[in-house]
Amino acid sequence: MTEKVISIIDQRNLQAIPPILESPAGLVTDTMNRPLRDLRISVTDRCNFRCVYCMPKAVFDKGYAFLPQTSLLSFEEITRIAKLFVAHGVEKIRLTGGEPLLRKNIEKLIAMLSVIQTISGRDLDVALTTNGALLAKKARALKDAGLKRITVSLDALDDAIFKQMNDVAFPVSDVLQGIDVAHQVGLGPIKINMVVKGGMNDQEIVPMAYHFKDTPFILRFIEYMDVGASNGWKMDEVITSYEVIQRINAHLPIEAVQANYSGETAGRWRYQDGSGEIGVISSVTQAFCHDCTRIRLSTEGKLYTCLFATSGYDLRALMRDGRSDAEISTAIAHLWRARTDRYSVLRTADTANIQQDKKKVEMSYIGG
Ligand code: SAM
Ligand code: SF4
Ligand code: SF4
Repeated sequence: MTEKVISIIDQRNLQAIPPILESPAGLVTDTMNRPLRDLRISVTDRCNFRCVYCMPKAVFDKGYAFLPQTSLLSFEEITRIAKLFVAHGVEKIRLTGGEPLLRKNIEKLIAMLSVIQTISGRDLDVALTTNGALLAKKARALKDAGLKRITVSLDALDDAIFKQMNDVAFPVSDVLQGIDVAHQVGLGPIKINMVVKGGMNDQEIVPMAYHFKDTPFILRFIEYMDVGASNGWKMDEVITSYEVIQRINAHLPIEAVQANYSGETAGRWRYQDGSGEIGVISSVTQAFCHDCTRIRLSTEGKLYTCLFATSGYDLRALMRDGRSDAEISTAIAHLWRARTDRYSVLRTADTANIQQDKKKVEMSYIGG
């Protein structure tokens, strides 16, 4: 294959990366020897919820400038990029947003991605994270398109608390129905993610554990993070995984389980009576940057090597500029090899003094 020399701009520090000569495909590792394994793709920056910890109404109001249709990557562009990432060793793609089920014909994209083979000859693992509002309606089409794994965000069972969290008065019963329909059509395994924000929904920890115990659904508790610049994050609103474990254990005795694989982000715990498992994702109190193999593609085609990045690399510009696959692939390899990100480690080391950085990108734009 022909080797190309290209130069791209690192928008984080506005310096031109020196041109390099390298093979356009093949496995890549970053400066901390982390391979590139997971690609998260935000397919829309819009959402039908206004979760208080993600898209607070005060910021994401009627005047908020969401991306115009022409800025969005087309399904063909997304699929082209996905194939280049797979050639660099990516095995898992997660579609997210904003709310991915709001993207028109999302099942077509899933069908296009599901047929991609990884370099080890397996089907690409295509997953999706949703707030579940449209799941009952869409589950069958998603399944038929080839989607296997799905994660549903659910922050409370109590309807009043759930409505307070999503801030659009969306009833919890509709999400629960969506989860059931997804299960009935054979989407699985289904994970349920609960972000715990102190003083808002922490009283729901134990009821959620009781509700999902003895079901096929794996409940995971996520520490409230300081992503973006609009949620007004404060450390004292974080309920730590340690506390979640203590609270559940007081009602339902649990014990730690060994990780499935190295780099698993969720700590695993099981009920001592054998009635299932839960997970805790300690994004704030136990940084997992040393194993972080994730890269994120924004709705408009910018690449972010960390959830807490302040700017991205414009792949859409390369594509719409007529660059070849080999050139874009080389750009991807270069970005990953130069990657030094370890925000959570630095934050954990200095949580007390962490400042809300005005420039951090929003989670709804970059994808969770
Ligand atoms: N709209 C979809 C949903 O809610 O599942 C997908 C996008 S959402 C940004 C992805 C995940 O990020 C959700 O599980 C959400 O709860 C989580 N999330 C958003 N803001 C967060 C924050 N500040 N801390 C922790 N998790 C957050
Ligand atoms: Fe929307 Fe998901 Fe963010 Fe909630 S967490 S506002 S559902 S993107
Ligand atoms: Fe990965 Fe950045 Fe999160 Fe660390 S802070 S785990 S590098 S996304």
